[in-house]
Amino acid sequence: MIAGPCAVESEEQIEVIARTISQLGVGLLRGGAYKPRTSPYSFQGLKEPGLKLMRNVADRYSLGVVTEVMDLSLLETVYPYADILQVGSRNMKNYHFLKELGKTRKPILLKRGMDATVEEWLLAAEYLLLGGNEQVILCERGIRTFDDSTRNTLDTVAIALAKELSHLPVLADPSQATGNRDLIKPASMSAVASGADGLMIEVHDHPEKALSDGPQSLYLDQFEEMLPDLARIVNAMGRTSNWKQEAEVLDI
Ligand code: PEP
Ligand code: MN
Repeated sequence: MIAGPCAVESEEQIEVIARTISQLGVGLLRGGAYKPRTSPYSFQGLKEPGLKLMRNVADRYSLGVVTEVMDLSLLETVYPYADILQVGSRNMKNYHFLKELGKTRKPILLKRGMDATVEEWLLAAEYLLLGGNEQVILCERGIRTFDDSTRNTLDTVAIALAKELSHLPVLADPSQATGNRDLIKPASMSAVASGADGLMIEVHDHPEKALSDGPQSLYLDQFEEMLPDLARIVNAMGRTSNWKQEAEVLDI
């Protein structure tokens, strides 16, 4: 399980969120410091000061840090702060970027492009693997379809197919997939039931005040309430609902 805000916003915000998820047994904290926003007028992230804030609280609560590297020019800055490097949906087809990231030796979370076929997604992962980085994690985050009643469409069958076609772990991001906090629980459950090895979920202490992706961020108590029900599906799939497991496997 990976949980945290869409973006790091302040010391207080990331501290409260980190403390809460760690108390719930989650081992990995997500948070963007360089955000790929559709509008250049939207909050772009706190940049390196945000990475510092997140690293400090993560260390205090023994959490791993998952954060996006938006561009090759930012790799050197982001690298020391991250335990897992996130490649965003918009970058999945940035092949030169993938080749260079493949030369690094930290785990890479590769989001599926919002318009990428499963084959294109797996070939993007090959770019990373060919560079010698064997710790690649796939993440289904919803694709664009005709239906705009949700932000994207969670492609659960793609999770099952990616598991079948590849040896790599597959995660789901129900937050970007739905855009709606009321749908996070069913989306998470269906992802796990489709074979997902883990989830990345946006949570916030005050989602109504969030500087990015508030409508799809769970309140902290909502996240807590969801976990026992989710654990039932996880256990039905023959998996352990130790939310820290991924962090332990990755030796973070
Ligand atoms: C995110 O995780 O906040 C994000 C921007 O993801 P994606 O690249 O999947 O849109
Ligand atoms: Mn987001």
